Amino acid sequence: MEHFPLFLNLRGRRVLVVGAGLVAARKIALLLSAGAQVTVLAKVAHPSVSAQADQGHITLHLGAFDAQWLQGMWLVIAATNDEALNAVVAQAASARQLWCNVVDDASRSSAQVPAIVDRAPVTIAISSGGAAPVIARRLRERIEALVEPSIGSLTALARRQRAAIRRARPELGARRRFYHWLLDGPVHDALRAARPDAAEALLKAALRTREAAPQGKVLLVGAGPGDPGLLTLRGLRALNEADVILHDRLVSAEVLQLARRDALFVSVGKTPGEDHEATQRRIHALMVHHATLGHTVVRLKGGDPLVFGRGGEELLMLREHGIAYEVVPGITAALACGAYAGIPLTHRAVADTLLLATAHRRAAAERADAPSQHTRIYYMGVERLAALGEQLTQQGLPFDTPCALVENGSRTGQRTLHATLATLAAQARAHSIASPALLIVGEATRLGQSLAWFGKTLTPEHTPTSTVQAAALAA
Ligand code: SAH
Repeated sequence: MEHFPLFLNLRGRRVLVVGAGLVAARKIALLLSAGAQVTVLAKVAHPSVSAQADQGHITLHLGAFDAQWLQGMWLVIAATNDEALNAVVAQAASARQLWCNVVDDASRSSAQVPAIVDRAPVTIAISSGGAAPVIARRLRERIEALVEPSIGSLTALARRQRAAIRRARPELGARRRFYHWLLDGPVHDALRAARPDAAEALLKAALRTREAAPQGKVLLVGAGPGDPGLLTLRGLRALNEADVILHDRLVSAEVLQLARRDALFVSVGKTPGEDHEATQRRIHALMVHHATLGHTVVRLKGGDPLVFGRGGEELLMLREHGIAYEVVPGITAALACGAYAGIPLTHRAVADTLLLATAHRRAAAERADAPSQHTRIYYMGVERLAALGEQLTQQGLPFDTPCALVENGSRTGQRTLHATLATLAAQARAHSIASPALLIVGEATRLGQSLAWFGKTLTPEHTPTSTVQAAALAA
């Protein structure tokens, strides 16, 4: 972390502003809105600053800066248009171990003023560490749009009723659910409708009734292929409602970072020496355990939970135990890899059928008949490329059928290898393609060679053709 964020209570505390131009005037207004007792020191003052002094909002001194002025101050802001003078103020403050902000000069500032979203008593502050204030301001705009104005009055109401809420809901979990209800339920609706009295009455009525026993549930959530931008909004909300998050190994760290910080995170990937069935039994037991305790459990899976994720088995098990569930779809690897490798999975006159299969089962490949206008997608296939290629050609697909192997689809290290059924296995070995990777087979993959836009594209030229042909013949 480059800067330590801190919210100052300036109410009634003395702050010195050096400078009284328009820049200083903006800072003065901000300080006054935080209740600071502002002293302004400048050689000349802008009329708006003089007016503030005339109205008794600030104390204005016209004169030169002297370190004596720092006496009794909690904070200093240097806002003159004289760089040398700003530097003198910063140094004097630093000598007294007093925080000093030099407006628009991060290098001289020991404290920086962030971009602010004000929903008092909620304050959201954004800093780019002085590196790019425009970026901080753009983020602020987005957050302004995201955080409803009513959040301020809701928080103020919650503050007024804090002790009562604590008394009525002494248990932490119950209290947390109550706050969620405040945010999502009729109290917030009443505030949005500018009916603060109704909101308060609703809150008090809810506190008088006992909370119904919490119902545990499981949300089966698709985390998408890795890029956090590909998580759905519903998925994001689920991650922030979760008490417990049981996540697969494939789920990216960036996605996990979007989840509620104080949720219990359990990585439920296969552990060394454990077989798949034992892993699955362990996951089932964890889901039942936490849901029975009344927790909201998010079972987070890579891609889509119902595409090669054993999600169906988990739902059957939950139904058997009478546990409530919801399913939040995710972007499956096939869709993400197609999109991020520039490969249309269907394309007029080229591909009209889409087949999603696992490379793991021999039967999967045998089932497929061989019309050429199919795009075939194989999950979990990196170790079986040679066998898979062989099966497909035995079924009548030409050796030169184009295919693409997408490694780490949508993630920063994405690589797409274009090859043919004949050259695929050798090429993949030559480029050390590793899991997670998805194999797409069919004429449509050819388009990816010109439509690619993300990550790295590997074409057969990278290995001498003779080696490739030799490997293909040997296969
Ligand atoms: N439920 C997941 C699939 C789980 S099976 C989904 O819908 O995507 C795991 C296989 O998915 C991996 O072996 C790989 O073939 C594929 N896969 C998952 N994420 C991937 C990614 N980011 N890039 C390429 N392949 C991926």
